[in-house]
Amino acid sequence: MSILCVGSVALDSVETPFGKAERVVGGSAVYFTAAASLLTSVQVVGVVGEDYPLERLDFLRARGVDLSGVEQVTGPSFFWSGRYRYDLNARDTLDTQLGVFADFQPRIPDAFRETPSLFLGNIDPVLQADVLDQVSAPSIVACDTMNYWIEGSRDALLALLARVRILIVNDEEIRQLADEPNLLKAARWVQERGPEYVVVKKGEHGAILFAPDWLFFVPGYPLEEVFDPTGAGDAFAGGFVGYLDHAGSLEPHDLRLAMVYGSALGSYAVERFSVERLATLDAADVRRRVAEFRDLTAFETRVEAV
Ligand code: AMP
Repeated sequence: MSILCVGSVALDSVETPFGKAERVVGGSAVYFTAAASLLTSVQVVGVVGEDYPLERLDFLRARGVDLSGVEQVTGPSFFWSGRYRYDLNARDTLDTQLGVFADFQPRIPDAFRETPSLFLGNIDPVLQADVLDQVSAPSIVACDTMNYWIEGSRDALLALLARVRILIVNDEEIRQLADEPNLLKAARWVQERGPEYVVVKKGEHGAILFAPDWLFFVPGYPLEEVFDPTGAGDAFAGGFVGYLDHAGSLEPHDLRLAMVYGSALGSYAVERFSVERLATLDAADVRRRVAEFRDLTAFETRVEAV
């Protein structure tokens, strides 16, 4: 199977308590693809400016990722900068410059239109809907968003949700979207507006999957060194959707395992700046970390124990 991913292809400047990285490759599509390409084949659609070091994405090409849908046009690339404090779960966005993204009109090449899975990375919901109009009935349609669009393009986002099967957001975003502090209620609010499944990421505290009548929790992988949390959410989405596409199923067993793949890939993303760590991984590394989650979470119930 394969996934079509549309999202930002960005240059990021990031400051954490452990160091700084200036104008490194990032963006929702890049982090997603760096994770998902370890599990399945991926095609990317996006736009970059003349300033983008496309050779930094060679590791994706080497994994068979089709980047022919990433256009390079005149103007500056999408630029984002952020700063993390000691609580790495909280970040301040210092700057967002849309650059060539301001005029981006996603054009899905004919060869990508029949895709079985679609990931709508974090971009303007109007563009996300435009992409949906150009593909023919993928069985998995997953979508991400962020506060920037929840505040600025709420109506377009709500219209999009009606057409999406899986929404993947973080806890702060879903609270803001549903205007509801309780995550269970917020997830139900979203489900009433379209998505059958809602994944809520909670940074180092793991993630929760809300299905129509059951839920599942996966912890964050306990890391001693978290270097740069940027992209963890997109890498989670890459592991999650990447596994589902690979399995070709949305059975509860596969959805649960997909959550573990998501958490494993998210945890690798934060070990270095940019996609440095994701670029050096192979499928065996991912399998090893996924297997460790068994020991982290498995237990037996003995009724007589209490
Ligand atoms: P995450 O840490 O997973 O939420 O994603 C961080 C990535 O999102 C960074 O690499 C940014 O370039 C990208 N990003 C930040 N703001 C936006 C935005 N408004 N639209 C699209 N991508 C963004």
